[in-house]
Amino acid sequence: MKRLSIVVPCYNEEEAIPLYFAACAPQADALDVETEWWFVDDGSSDGTLEKLKALRQRDERVHYLSFSRNFGKEAAMYAGLEAAAGDYVAVMDVDLQDPPHLLGTMLAGVQGGAYDCVATRRVTRKGEPRLRSFFARAFYRLINRISKTEVVDGARDFRLMSRPMVDAILSLREVSRFSKGIFSWVGFRTQWLEYENIQRVAGETKWSFWKLLLYSLDGIIGFSTAPLGIASVMGIVFCLLAFVLILFFIIKTLIWGDPVAGFPAMICIILMLGGIQLFCIGILGQYLSKTYLETKHRPIYIAREKE
Ligand code: UDP
Ligand code: MG
Repeated sequence: MKRLSIVVPCYNEEEAIPLYFAACAPQADALDVETEWWFVDDGSSDGTLEKLKALRQRDERVHYLSFSRNFGKEAAMYAGLEAAAGDYVAVMDVDLQDPPHLLGTMLAGVQGGAYDCVATRRVTRKGEPRLRSFFARAFYRLINRISKTEVVDGARDFRLMSRPMVDAILSLREVSRFSKGIFSWVGFRTQWLEYENIQRVAGETKWSFWKLLLYSLDGIIGFSTAPLGIASVMGIVFCLLAFVLILFFIIKTLIWGDPVAGFPAMICIILMLGGIQLFCIGILGQYLSKTYLETKHRPIYIAREKE
């Protein structure tokens, strides 16, 4: 019999864990596979680990892995994928925003052999702050324009994959991980299931606006080098502009003479060019800092306990 591993990252989710398992276990039982769960406690400070231990006492199929501190959801997913032994591996959130009843459909898609992966995307952003939706859309437009890797708008991390795809993902050992890009970068045939946004059952979202912004920068830097070209493009544009202006001022001086004027304009130009230069150095700095962190080859996560 084939085995399905379900990877569930949890960070301060003591309320959601029992609800999740109560909803997910019956769905998994109905499937034509053996199921195991890998819960990853991402350095929670509440009773998450105790809840997981209690769950393991009750059900042998439950495993857990506990981090030495909070490493983030990306690291938690990586750890879970690494621990999972199944022929198929699913990743899902513990807050029931990823409906467990879809597992059957997803498994059928991959078992049929037509697809290596069945992924989900939400088609609406209902219940999300307006401003956040606006920035999210802008981010997807931008990254898809400047990156060769397709990042699907509204794609969730909820997906079920075949073993070869999981191994491919594990072979990407970068520390600064942007899964939406990684899933797409490794390729394989993906089927998309769509559903409406669902509110989380308990607890609250771990993503602040600021965290999301930094995460989107990770995505852009991880999957596009286009920003590095901005300096070159702006350099050329400003050289051309300068050339036209030089011609203009030479001709103007020859015809009308040269009264000294234009001090404010000068200040504006100096400020603007200075700003653009700093901006471009900043972009270089972003790539350099990522390169620096990657070259240290630090582990993606550190586990304190695993069972
Ligand atoms: N999560 C995690 N580590 C973190 C933040 C979140 O493992 O540092 C987990 C969290 O417990 C949940 C999933 O990632 O199972 C998605 O988090 P959340 O629901 O807060 O994100 P949202 O659904 O709002 O995007
Ligand atoms: Mg959620």
